[in-house]
Amino acid sequence: MDENCNRRLIPCCMNLEGGIRNRGLRMTIPRQLVAGVLDTADGYLSADEIYTRIREDYPGIGLATVYRTLVLLDEMGIVNRYNFGDGCARFIIAEEQTSEHSHQLVCEKCFKVVKYSDFVKDELDLFRRVESVLSEKHGFEINRHIVQFYGICPDCKEEK
Ligand SMILES: [Zn+2]
Ligand SMILES: [Zn+2]
Repeated sequence: MDENCNRRLIPCCMNLEGGIRNRGLRMTIPRQLVAGVLDTADGYLSADEIYTRIREDYPGIGLATVYRTLVLLDEMGIVNRYNFGDGCARFIIAEEQTSEHSHQLVCEKCFKVVKYSDFVKDELDLFRRVESVLSEKHGFEINRHIVQFYGICPDCKEEK
């Protein structure tokens, strides 16, 4: 399958490719396609949505392959799976293990994710305080954190 791989046609995602190779996995076409779609997504996508996007350019790919690939990437920690309670698993690229902190606003209606880094000073102070209280209480040295706030984005709020 790898011989047919035309890289110029496939969205490039160096981080993911590195992540996949670092875990001793081969970069197959389905892995590359799934990673490519997730890499350019602005939020969580279901296996169905990923499949639909891939199929536009690669009609030969099957939903089962896409699903199997997602399960594998989830097991390897390359993607994160989240269930919003409607019985449909949704996927997103996992956060880089190196970033000190990541803050996200997640819309529970359209599954868009806003990653923001324009912290207000109060917020930074607050999280610093939380970290110091937690590390004292649990004797735990905290290196980084990921914060996710769930709710409704402005676009979805308008639609209501
Ligand atoms: Zn933070
Ligand atoms: Zn929304």
